[in-house]
Amino acid sequence: MPACNQLEAAFRAAWADPAFHSRLDALLRDYAGRPTPVTECLRLSERLGVRVLLKREDLTHTGSHKINNVLGQGLLTVGMGKGRIIAETGAGQHGVATATAAALFGLDCVVYMGEVDTERQELNVFRMRLLGAEVRPVRSGSRTLKDAVNEALRDWVASVEDTHYCLGSVMGPHPYPWMVREFQRVVGEEARAQCRLLLDGADPDYVVACVGGGSNAAGTFAGFVDTRAALVGVEAAGGAAIGRGVPGVVHGMKSYLLQDEYGQVSEARSISAGLDYPGVGPEHSYLAAAGRASYVPASDGEVLVALQVLAETEGIIPALEPAHAIAWVLRASASGEIPNGSTVLVTMSGRGDKDAEQVMGLLG
Ligand SMILES: *Cc1c(COP(=O)(O)O)cnc(C)c1O
Repeated sequence: MPACNQLEAAFRAAWADPAFHSRLDALLRDYAGRPTPVTECLRLSERLGVRVLLKREDLTHTGSHKINNVLGQGLLTVGMGKGRIIAETGAGQHGVATATAAALFGLDCVVYMGEVDTERQELNVFRMRLLGAEVRPVRSGSRTLKDAVNEALRDWVASVEDTHYCLGSVMGPHPYPWMVREFQRVVGEEARAQCRLLLDGADPDYVVACVGGGSNAAGTFAGFVDTRAALVGVEAAGGAAIGRGVPGVVHGMKSYLLQDEYGQVSEARSISAGLDYPGVGPEHSYLAAAGRASYVPASDGEVLVALQVLAETEGIIPALEPAHAIAWVLRASASGEIPNGSTVLVTMSGRGDKDAEQVMGLLG
C-alpha cells in the first residue's frame, strides 16, 4: 500500500504539472514519432461497404502503442528520483518496451519473464539484453505471465525506495489502471481530432480496439467515451475475460477473470501472445457492466483471415492482436451488425513483423 500510495501521489503531481507534460509531449513527438496518422482504407472499405479508418500505432518507434506507456512511466521514474525500473513480460513486448525506455533514461532495468516464455521468445530475450536489461526467468507456478507479475510485485515490495514497477497494461492495483489509461489517452485524443477533420466534424459510428490487458483499447476509448460512438473491445476467444470470466480479485485488482470452479485463475489461450492474459483491466469491466462498451470474441481462424485481408487490400500487415479487431469488423459488416455506410475507426495497435514467423508456420 505505501508503494502504491507514493506512486499515486507522484503521478497526480506530475499529471498536474505543465513541465511534465511538455517533456512527455516532446518525447512522444521526437522519439516515438507522434502524432501517428489515421489512414483511410479505401479498398477494404469498398469491399466491406463500411468506411474503415485505422489509427496507426504500428508506425511508432518500437512498433506498438506500448511506447506511450513506458515513456510516461520512465519519465515518472526519473521524476521520483529512482534509478531502477522493473517490469513483467509475457511474450516479451512490454519487456522490450521497458528496456527501451530504461536505455533512453539511463535506468537499471530488470524484466521478470516466465521460464516457459523465455524459451518461446528467445529473440525478445536477446533484444532486452541488447538494450542493457537483465532478464530474470521465473520458475514458480506455471512459469508464465501471471507468475512473472507475482515476482515483479515481490521485488517491488522489497525495493520500492529506489525502484519503480513499470506495469504494462491497465491492470493491477490503483493507480495503475488509471495511470496507464492516462498515458495511453493520447491515442484516443489524437484519433478523435483526426476523425473530426476527415468526417466534417463528426465522430465515427464505431470505435474498435483489441483487448488483452486493455491498454490500447482504454486509451482509444478515453477519446470517445463522451461521444455517441459505439465502443467495441475485441478479445481473443480463448482469453475472453469479459465474455467468459467472472468477477474475482488478483494482482491487486477486482475485475472479470477466467477462473475454475474453485476460483483459481485459469490459463488463457490465444494465437496471439499479447492477448492471452486471463484477466482484463477493471475499467473495461466497469464499461461493460455500465453498458457503455461491448466486448466480443474473435477466433484464431478469423484472425488469420483478417490479417491476410488487411495485408492484401491495404498493404498493411497487422500484428496478431489488432487483427482481432479487424476480424470483428469483417464479421460484423458481413452479418449486418455494422450497418452499410457506417464509419468504423480501428486502432492498429502494432505491426505484424514480430508475428511473421509464427504466421508463416500457421499458414504453411
Ligand atoms: C501488448 C499488445 C497488445 C495487448 O495489450 P493491451 O494492454 O490490451 O493493449 C495489443 N496489441 C499489441 C500490438 C501489443 O503489443
